[in-house]
Amino acid sequence: MSNATQLIHSIPVDPLTGSISVPIYQTSTFVQDAPGEHKGYDYARSNNPTRAVLEKIIAELEDGAAGYAFASGLAAIDAVVKLLESGDEILAVDDIYGGAFRLFTHIYAKFGITVNYVDTTDVVNVVDAITPKTKLVWLETPTNPTLKISDIEAIAKVAKQNGSWLCVDNTFASPALQQPINLGADIVVHSATKYLGGHSDLIAGLVVTKTQELGDKIKFIQNASGAILSPHDSWLVIRGVETLHLRVKEHSRNAQIVAEYLQKHPAVNAVYYPGLKTHVNHDIAARQQSGFGGIVSFTLKQDTEDAAKKVVTGTKYFKLAESLGGVKSLLCHPATMTHKSIPVDKRQAAGVADSLIRLSVGLEDAEDLIKDIEQALNKVTVVNRKEVTLL
Ligand SMILES: *Cc1c(COP(=O)(O)O)cnc(C)c1O
Repeated sequence: MSNATQLIHSIPVDPLTGSISVPIYQTSTFVQDAPGEHKGYDYARSNNPTRAVLEKIIAELEDGAAGYAFASGLAAIDAVVKLLESGDEILAVDDIYGGAFRLFTHIYAKFGITVNYVDTTDVVNVVDAITPKTKLVWLETPTNPTLKISDIEAIAKVAKQNGSWLCVDNTFASPALQQPINLGADIVVHSATKYLGGHSDLIAGLVVTKTQELGDKIKFIQNASGAILSPHDSWLVIRGVETLHLRVKEHSRNAQIVAEYLQKHPAVNAVYYPGLKTHVNHDIAARQQSGFGGIVSFTLKQDTEDAAKKVVTGTKYFKLAESLGGVKSLLCHPATMTHKSIPVDKRQAAGVADSLIRLSVGLEDAEDLIKDIEQALNKVTVVNRKEVTLL
């Protein structure tokens, strides 16, 4: 069975009514026949039939034993960190999602959990930095916004040898392109707000575990801490997932065209996209992903915030907004938006230059998207030329 067939048919027909769409069980509680005697559901924080369908689907998509749905991607990340105890260490990718960095630094540091950030694009750095206290290795691949790639299989081996769990934030690739559990990861997390939801209309998070044993621990945390996904939003993610493979394939196709176009443009300095042969870890990406995804970042030759602002406010189809993975193309300027709170030298060292622009390439026609970028980029080039003539 192909992935697409498996995906579409993992969404069950309602056994009670035959409804082809999963019913939304908008309820807080379930009536019991006698104390403790019920149909598998007692209270909707603990379990809800609509959420349960989504949790089963995501476990299947990631080839894990169990899945759990949370109120946001960060709530999902938070549930994984709650597996740890005071004194444990996390070894994390240095180019980590800003919200995860904030959670680790401003919430968990005070509970005695420390985080060591390393450049995981070279497995040697992981081998050097891992310690007996490292309980959890945290990867994102590709990363945000510079699309760094780390070798999941090689790092999984290092983590396993050390007795550490490996968790991969698979938001950028989605399970349509990359299945970390099949490469040795123990846990996968998602911001389902992005590609899984796919339509920029919800906030949601997911955790998938390789074993049921680890799943039971996450389930306990989910119920005990309570950051569950609502029945209606669970339904929206299910609805998004139905077209995940089609969407992600097309996002990737469009992004490749846009990245190749950008590489040739005279106003562009560097282009970051794992699908380009010039990407440092293109080979690893080609091995562990079945496509390169919809996110492309680039810098300008005129490496200033002003030049970048001209571009990000000059497009018509690419809307200026944080977030990614939706049908409509978005773009953002990390230096003044998502990465604003990071000190300038740290931000620049991480490769987030003043002129870096991140594109979430949507499902519009690629030719229209290129025309849109071209007219916005020409504003920068024209400014350059004018400056030259004035001199
Ligand atoms: C957006 C995002 C998150 C956080 O998810 P929310 O749904 O916004 O809480 C985590 N990781 C990555 C890679 C993201 O892009």
